[in-house]
Amino acid sequence: MNAQTSTQRHDAFLREQLQRAGLRATRQRLGLAELIFGQGERHLTAEGLYAEALKEGLRLSQTTVYNTLHQFTEAGLLREILADPRRIYFDTNVDPHHHFLDEDTGDMEDIPAEGVSVSALPTPPDGKSIEGVDVIVRVRRSA
Ligand SMILES: [Zn+2]
Repeated sequence: MNAQTSTQRHDAFLREQLQRAGLRATRQRLGLAELIFGQGERHLTAEGLYAEALKEGLRLSQTTVYNTLHQFTEAGLLREILADPRRIYFDTNVDPHHHFLDEDTGDMEDIPAEGVSVSALPTPPDGKSIEGVDVIVRVRRSA
């Protein structure tokens, strides 16, 4: 009983988030939002989310998953991290921070913003100012 109530409350919260972001709360978007934001902060890929959606019995295409992730990103609900041209991660933590990327497993882990200090940044081009620095520290199991 309690779980049901908290699910409903969570649903209302997600609905409100979507509406505030200017996105209609369609059943597909709500279902995906539930998967994305219902498990605490995490980093996911379009492929991984699609697999989760199938497992949950959501009926949607890979394209829908992909488009929804990009809509959420444009709306500021997710942050996109380009690990390399073939691997894009979506982060539920949109505050500034850095990452460890495990090259063996593909797992991504947060590094707090203050955990990295970058000194000697180059002078930005004329008329530009530095907006932010995103660091990905690539790790591998040590031999
Ligand atoms: Zn992160």
